[in-house]
Amino acid sequence: MTKINSLRGMPDLYSDDLISWTSVENNLENIFKSYSLKELRTPILEYTDLFKRSVGDTSDIVNKEIYAFNDRNDQSISLRPEGTAGVIRSIIEKKLDQQQSKIWYMGPMFRYERPQKGRYRQFHQAGIELLGYEEGPADFEMISIVSSIINELKITDVKLKINHLGDNESKAKFSRSLVKFLDPYKKELDAKDQIRLEKNPLRILDTKDTNLQKILQEGPSIKEFISDSANELLLELQKTFSNSCKLEIDYNLVRGLDYYTGLVFEASSADLGAQDAFIGGGRYDNLSSMLGGKNLPAIGLAIGLERLISISSLNKADEKKVIFITSTSNIAPLAFKIANQLRSLNSSVALDMDLTDSSLKAKLRRANKTNASHALILGDKEIDSKNIIIKSLMDDTEQVSVSIEECLDFYNKI
Ligand code: AMP
Repeated sequence: MTKINSLRGMPDLYSDDLISWTSVENNLENIFKSYSLKELRTPILEYTDLFKRSVGDTSDIVNKEIYAFNDRNDQSISLRPEGTAGVIRSIIEKKLDQQQSKIWYMGPMFRYERPQKGRYRQFHQAGIELLGYEEGPADFEMISIVSSIINELKITDVKLKINHLGDNESKAKFSRSLVKFLDPYKKELDAKDQIRLEKNPLRILDTKDTNLQKILQEGPSIKEFISDSANELLLELQKTFSNSCKLEIDYNLVRGLDYYTGLVFEASSADLGAQDAFIGGGRYDNLSSMLGGKNLPAIGLAIGLERLISISSLNKADEKKVIFITSTSNIAPLAFKIANQLRSLNSSVALDMDLTDSSLKAKLRRANKTNASHALILGDKEIDSKNIIIKSLMDDTEQVSVSIEECLDFYNKI
């Protein structure tokens, strides 16, 4: 039989990989709770229309990257490519779109992209949405959360860029001025940028083409189109958070999704290589009404967990582990009784019962090859005398035979 492999860009996470995952997830959850955010879990599948309407018909995510298919009822449904659309859909459905909510979520997302280091087809995001808050304190709170994440997870070499896209009107004015400025250069643009210029001109600012980057330096800047209060907000944010993280105003920062207005931001780290952004977010005041809800001003962010985990230098706690070895000629109910007592006494230790039917000697040889600190041995002799041997796997000469009570005491103190 031929074997069946996993899908391209959809790696398994197993064992040691998950030690850093759990530690980062737990830390994020603690940060979220410390900001009084409430968790929301939405389904992985949603109607494709939800993403078409929210993420935008012109975005790469909906055009090329979405995993969409028809269900048995011939309805087009999609694996979620991001979390915000589902959260807003859920809030509208719960009729919570006329009040404030502070929300976090975490889970897998799916995009049909070309897999490479730091870019997968199934990846994971944690996200935050502050809903029902106008521009102002919520924008400061959001940057405060970003700075807590960077500091608590001990991320170094971080750059946090912020920009302001203005309201719909200034965004549109800037867009028109950009199109006019680029008109004489149209033929010099590559196919991708030509499409952007036609469908979503702001995304041109994101170009990787160095020639176009140079041209754009002479072009209009969003700075001239946004209000004084928008410019002030950027400066105030920079002043407030400059001590806790390296924060830069970048007037060329635009984000991939159409729904952003107002403040946008992105955290990146040089340690990540080409795919260097690990947090992205911004204000999206119009999304709720675009999805049939009430007017709900909001600001959100998404964290790429694969990337965050690869640059976090949190201390990974060493796993404490003990191997339990019993004689197989006499599989004693006593062994299971003791093992369960030990586990309930100290759940921070992994008690690994050797379940094979090999000899004591072979079991001990195997135990020596693991990262366990001790072996607990219950041979035939010990079963009779109700004693147990504690053998160090670090120091071959250290071995004692103790009563079961003494063993419990030892285990409790590991
Ligand atoms: P976005 O939803 O595109 O704003 O992305 C937010 C964050 O998710 C990015 O900064 C990345 O860290 C992460 N991300 C986006 N797409 C992928 C992907 N295909 N693989 C891994 N991480 C991703």
